[in-house]
Amino acid sequence: VLPSREALDTLDWAKGDGLLPVVVQDADSLAVLMLGYATAESLALTLETGHMTFYSRSKQRLWTKGESSGNVLAVVAVRVDCDRDTLLVTARPAGPTCHTGSESCFAQAPGNFLGQLDALVREREQQRPANSYTTSLFEQGIRRIAQKVGEEGVETALAGVVQDDAALLGESADLLFHLTVLLRARGLSLQDAVEVLVARHAK
Ligand code: AMP
Ligand code: ZN
Ligand code: ZN
Ligand code: ZN
Repeated sequence: VLPSREALDTLDWAKGDGLLPVVVQDADSLAVLMLGYATAESLALTLETGHMTFYSRSKQRLWTKGESSGNVLAVVAVRVDCDRDTLLVTARPAGPTCHTGSESCFAQAPGNFLGQLDALVREREQQRPANSYTTSLFEQGIRRIAQKVGEEGVETALAGVVQDDAALLGESADLLFHLTVLLRARGLSLQDAVEVLVARHAK
């Protein structure tokens, strides 16, 4: 997935006069964060440092995203498109990627909200802030969390039986939240369960 330095020569640099567009996507929320341009040099530096470095067309120089703001993009993977003239980089941003302070340069970029929720639940588990329902669940322990999942599962099923769509959606949301907390209490995430589905699908 991560092209080696040698693989840089196999990219189609000619089409864009030495510049390749780079789409950056959040590795966890999957939101599209920004678009920039890479040169062979900026890409080599990126692979070396692990921080996304572009060629800034306005500054006309190499630009490591976050070089002054600190909001660097830690590269997780680099993917090349079908005809090798565009890159898709998944990254973990150290802070807001847009210079306006937004998470993404594209307002309200759609992302994987369950991934964001899991990150929030993980933060609650570690920091245990007062007056947080999630904190109170973690403090009551895994038996209480598991009991809540059972209750919400039954409530979801009952809403389905009586064909109350508003209740079905509300109870499903309750179930997904408490399931996220239960998985987190075991050091797991919904994404881990999704990966089980993906593995089954591949068979
Ligand atoms: P930074 O790279 O975050 O240290 O920001 C340095 C400068 O780069 C900012 O003042 C902006 O001019 C520009 N900049 C930062 N983030 C972006 C972005 N996502 N898209 C375009 N320009 C940006
Ligand atoms: Zn292409
Ligand atoms: Zn922006
Ligand atoms: Zn409920």
